[in-house]
Amino acid sequence: MKISCSIAEDLLPLYVDESCSQDSKIALEDHLAECSSCREKYKRMKVHDLSNGRSTISDTRTVSMVSYARKVRCYRRFLRVLILVTIIILAFLMSVLGRAFSIMQHQRTTPVTDIEEGTCNLTLSDFVCTVEEAEELSIFTNSTQIVVTVTAGTDFSGSIILRKTNQKNERIMLGKISNKYPTCVFTNLIPESRYGISFEGVPSGSVRLSGDVSFWRAVWMVLTDII
Ligand SMILES: [Zn+2]
Repeated sequence: MKISCSIAEDLLPLYVDESCSQDSKIALEDHLAECSSCREKYKRMKVHDLSNGRSTISDTRTVSMVSYARKVRCYRRFLRVLILVTIIILAFLMSVLGRAFSIMQHQRTTPVTDIEEGTCNLTLSDFVCTVEEAEELSIFTNSTQIVVTVTAGTDFSGSIILRKTNQKNERIMLGKISNKYPTCVFTNLIPESRYGISFEGVPSGSVRLSGDVSFWRAVWMVLTDII
């Protein structure tokens, strides 16, 4: 395709920037092969581009075209970085939400009232007590998880041992807990069972027991785990 000198001039910045279409590139190269004037402009533009704008070109139109090409290149680079950063942020958020929803699985079911007296019934509400009192409880959740949050007024790092009620020596699970990570979630439990907990290395403080994990609590747990 034959093009005029003015079209060739319009295409030159994109050609220098190597961002014009294949058809435009072929048409421009055909024109440059035949037109010494445009070929000269291309050479000047290329020199100016390679010297990163430091060459002294008196042709102001050439300079402005090169500067336009450079702006286009910067904008495209910025756009690529922006898209990459957006993809990384979205992937991170999806991963956090996925893990949060997996923690929230098997939440507390319909409240159950007809269970034996003295049982800590988490189907009715959360239960708050001291560390010492918590060790004496028989806990019923009717779900597959028990969430234990310890609040102590001091730095600590310890463990929570989960066992079946009345089987003090039979450890089912062990959860790490500290003032930095004060919540421990025991999962994959049998809903109809009664459980007991005991603490090691945990100072006196208050304990909140729950069968549920709220959305924000789950997100916070995932984030603290990552950080
Ligand atoms: Zn020409």
